[in-house]
Amino acid sequence: MKFTFLGTGTSHGIPMIGCSCNVCTSSETKNKRRRCSLYVVAEGKHLIFDTPPDFRDQVLTFGVERVDAVFLTHPHADHIFGFDDVRRFSDLQKSHIPVYGSPETMRQMRTKFDYVDKTSHSFGGVPRVQFTDQMEPVSVGDVVVTPLPVWHGQETIHGFRIEGDGKRLGYIPDCSGIPAETLLLLENMDTMILDGLRPQEHPTHFSIGECVEMLNRIGARQSYLTHLTHNSEHRELQARLGKAVTVPWDGLKILL
Ligand SMILES: [Zn+2]
Ligand SMILES: [Zn+2]
Ligand SMILES: [Zn+2]
Repeated sequence: MKFTFLGTGTSHGIPMIGCSCNVCTSSETKNKRRRCSLYVVAEGKHLIFDTPPDFRDQVLTFGVERVDAVFLTHPHADHIFGFDDVRRFSDLQKSHIPVYGSPETMRQMRTKFDYVDKTSHSFGGVPRVQFTDQMEPVSVGDVVVTPLPVWHGQETIHGFRIEGDGKRLGYIPDCSGIPAETLLLLENMDTMILDGLRPQEHPTHFSIGECVEMLNRIGARQSYLTHLTHNSEHRELQARLGKAVTVPWDGLKILL
């Protein structure tokens, strides 16, 4: 299994428009963070987790080769508004691409991208996809993707557990709490990637401290935090966290 962090930043991205702080003006490329997305290749299948506003740039910059399925964590703007660019892959692959999310996520996708469902079966300038409600594990070839219900403030949204090539990867980019039933699905993980927004607490995201505590509890072989704000300078945060948790950067590729 191979995965690439296509984006590791919070909803504003870093640099944030109109900010002159030391992180937003940093020349260190690891401090430049696009909105959150993950690209996973396993069992010969290519999966995308969220299509943020930066999706086209992420695909071109980090070399996404094909897309066999798209999984959406939730319908917030920073996770879906690059969706239209999936159309290049449905054109190139000459096939419909399945798109999975919770019933509420897909309800909002059908509204926000209403032109897709109406015209996706005719050839033209729209993504050809199948919007599919996901409540249960889904197989894409031999990869199994299990939805992980988590709290994001008042809302329940999805993270995902991805199993393939004998490995288990967990991806939860937006989260302020993990129910006990979901924690049971996160045993014996090879890699865990979890929301660790910023040092201070936040009503809809784990703080860095809460994230690290949860990552320790999950106890994956490798742990990463994501969805970072400009409150964290890359090198300083990594030095503070030590070896147990890795601070990723856009374009970081991991072979499990
Ligand atoms: Zn987000
Ligand atoms: Zn800033
Ligand atoms: Zn969100």
